[in-house]
Amino acid sequence: MKKWVYFFGAGKAEGDGTWREVLGGKGAGLAEMTRIGLPVPGGFTISTEACAYYYGHDKKFPSELKKQVADNVAKLERVTKKKLGDPKNPLLVSVRSGSARSMPGMMETILNLGLNDKSVSGLAATTKNERFAYDAYRRFVQMYSTVVMGMSKEDLEHRLADMKKRRGVKEDTAVPASGWKELVAEYKEIFKQKTGNAFPDDPMEQLWGAIGAVFGSWMAEKAVTYRRVEKITGLLGTAVNVVQMVFGNTGENSGTGVCFTRNPSSGEKEFYGDYLVNAQGEDVVAGIRTPMPLREMAKLLPKVYVQLEKVRVKLEKHYRDMQDMEFTVEDGKLYMLQTRTGKRTPSAAFRMAVDMANEKLITKQDALLRIKPEDIDRLFYPVIDAKVDKKSLESTIFATGINAVPGAAVGKVVFTAADAEAWAEKGEKVILVRRETSPEDVGGMAVAQGILTATGGKTSHAAVVARGWGKCCIVGAEKVSIDYKSKTMSAGGKTVKEGEWVTLDGGEGVAYTGAQPLVTPELPKAFTTLMKWVDETRKLRVRTNADTPQDSRKAREMGAEGIGLCRTEHMFFTDFEHPEKGQERQRAIQEMILAETREARVKALDKLLPFQRRDFIGIFRAMDGLPVTIRLIDPPLHEFVPHERAKQEELAKDLGLAVEKVARRVEQLHEANPMLGHRGCRLAITYPEILEMQVRAIIEAAIECQKNKVKVLPEIMIPLVLDKKELWILEQATRRVADDLIKKAGVKLEYLVGTMIELPRAALLANEIAEVAEFFSFGTNDLTQTTMGLSRDDAGRFLPDYVDEKKAGVFAADPFQSLDTKGVGMLMRWGIEKGRSTRNKLKVGICGEHGGDADSVKFCHQIGMDYVSASPFRVPISRLAAAQVVVEEKQAAKKKKK
Ligand code: PEP
Ligand code: MG
Repeated sequence: MKKWVYFFGAGKAEGDGTWREVLGGKGAGLAEMTRIGLPVPGGFTISTEACAYYYGHDKKFPSELKKQVADNVAKLERVTKKKLGDPKNPLLVSVRSGSARSMPGMMETILNLGLNDKSVSGLAATTKNERFAYDAYRRFVQMYSTVVMGMSKEDLEHRLADMKKRRGVKEDTAVPASGWKELVAEYKEIFKQKTGNAFPDDPMEQLWGAIGAVFGSWMAEKAVTYRRVEKITGLLGTAVNVVQMVFGNTGENSGTGVCFTRNPSSGEKEFYGDYLVNAQGEDVVAGIRTPMPLREMAKLLPKVYVQLEKVRVKLEKHYRDMQDMEFTVEDGKLYMLQTRTGKRTPSAAFRMAVDMANEKLITKQDALLRIKPEDIDRLFYPVIDAKVDKKSLESTIFATGINAVPGAAVGKVVFTAADAEAWAEKGEKVILVRRETSPEDVGGMAVAQGILTATGGKTSHAAVVARGWGKCCIVGAEKVSIDYKSKTMSAGGKTVKEGEWVTLDGGEGVAYTGAQPLVTPELPKAFTTLMKWVDETRKLRVRTNADTPQDSRKAREMGAEGIGLCRTEHMFFTDFEHPEKGQERQRAIQEMILAETREARVKALDKLLPFQRRDFIGIFRAMDGLPVTIRLIDPPLHEFVPHERAKQEELAKDLGLAVEKVARRVEQLHEANPMLGHRGCRLAITYPEILEMQVRAIIEAAIECQKNKVKVLPEIMIPLVLDKKELWILEQATRRVADDLIKKAGVKLEYLVGTMIELPRAALLANEIAEVAEFFSFGTNDLTQTTMGLSRDDAGRFLPDYVDEKKAGVFAADPFQSLDTKGVGMLMRWGIEKGRSTRNKLKVGICGEHGGDADSVKFCHQIGMDYVSASPFRVPISRLAAAQVVVEEKQAAKKKKK
């Protein structure tokens, strides 16, 4: 019989920490903590496999599940010596979700399950606290009604507010037992009205309702959105953890908290967290009340604090990583409710990885695997420019709060997640301001520049989610009063309306009015150390896609080891060093396109030559001896001429032509399918003079550099080749121009001529093409487009449906972002193998966008490429991925040996 349920309690557990896939992170953590002797309440976990079964069978539970759950309830009753629904000594449980990857707050939880009109008296008797028992009861009815039955939260909240008004009390804590009792009756009445059924008194019926709701929450909109944003794929589903309730809200000696074994913001090795006296766990996570720093708990409950410190040490040693733990203190007794690998800011991730390797807690190789590509992406956090006058900055302080996630952000204030999404869609930069955030807000949080909440601590929903994304976030700005109706917020006598600019400094926890200038800071020390380890480990070389000397310099700072793609046509439009000269270049290329004879074209091209030559000299200098791959003109010519009448008139005037002539030529250039049209090397077949000018510019620049003792390694690359003969014609033309110039200059200059592999035919016939090409560079933007038959410019309209697991879910990721290793990858493998069968030392790289995507880089390593090429800011990501794949391969080999 298939096992769907796993028990833990009384020091024993059926699973362990390695069972994340089956037990989910929370279930695996509870099992492991139980095994290593930590104080964990008993319970059981319904596996993620049961969830997969549920969705695979029309939302039906596996037939054996009923009995297995009943058996485990009985076992839990034996271990706890309490019984579900017992009028004297009732067992209460929490029912929580938990998948293999952490999805904080995205799925459902039900607390205090097992209460009914009878067992509530038992709870009152055992805790000697009737008020507490009825408060727990009304919380349960409220949670069950909203979470399981989907009733409106507001309706019930209104009843609560009315009851308090009737009784003349303000705080929940002042409501007597009779008030809660009255509310339970009212809630049950609403339940009956809305659902047509009485509120379920039978704890087993309650339990099954809750299990269904947790499974249901796996496919809730917010959970699906979160998985999409976080690129979480391939999971079975959520597990359901049914755990004995312990109470942090039984008085001053009780409480609940969340803590981290190291500081998740800075990475510093210090015990860090929040504690809330006399509260249930959800209160901390939801950020409804502002907790105290963990350190202060040491004064209130010194013994428990010392015990917690020991747990901290034990867990970090055990898991060899920073842990994020939830705990509850019930009348002075500590219970651990959860441990999981803690989310951290990017710079904390670097610091922890390097520190832990230095402490010998982990190896250097482990340290490399601890960094996610996104960590690098987010390392370059902006901060408010230090040049801004301190005094004037202070005068714009609007409010202060808790510095939950560092970095600064500037944007226009919006007060709802929906507005954030709508405004961002229109291209506005927004700051999302909320009293607190809830998982419904993730869409808006994802598009906001930064987040500000009036309540909550460092572990509140807003803080946890924003930290995972490395997004500037301030929480607990208690002085800020928000009026959602008028869409304003005020603090300290200042009011900010929707649409007004604010600046958040998440590092300091300060919100300013107005838009302050931001700058990107220096990288943390640990970054340099870790990237050194990365470079010692990787085998793939990492180049960059750069078209200007400036980008080339930036890329070298980021560790680029050459240029893998310089798109020369980008130079036709912009002059980065002399922007005012951009127009001159534009006109020259347009004149060339409009020319009717070869002579006229050559004349126009001669105007472009000095610009290109100067750019190449700048790039060669910036790369200082590193290889530079320069691609000849690629886009269809219609991209270089204006399509609007007014611009055509301007062009005609500048070139002294009739506007009709310009318009006619533009029309001639029109193609039904330009991406499959007259572009790439096909242009050079028709207009060899373009190739001649470009090769001349490259080689003259190289000669000049060489003369000035700047080493150069030019690689001339011919795009979109589909046949060996086509490439041969262009290669011969290239060599004629280049060799002639080199000979005349009397220098010794080496250069390569190679091609891009961007078409299936080129990949298929790679053995023939390699007879001519000295190198291959896979242009996977076009190769994806041409292999899949999906337009790279238009597919964005429908591709999201192909990635959305709730719609078609055909691909795990957008194939234009992350290589389709199955299809496009097959052509790449074939192309490399065939190419090297002709030319065994054939140099092979990739220069499509995939060269900066971690998973794609790993694939490129696996298929034996020599290098990848990525945009400057993604170079460190590619370096990291190239090292990670080496470590992963080693670990896999070791595992196989075992
Ligand atoms: C490619 O097609 O992958 C490529 C790098 O060329 P472009 O993006 O310029 O078409
Ligand atoms: Mg291309």
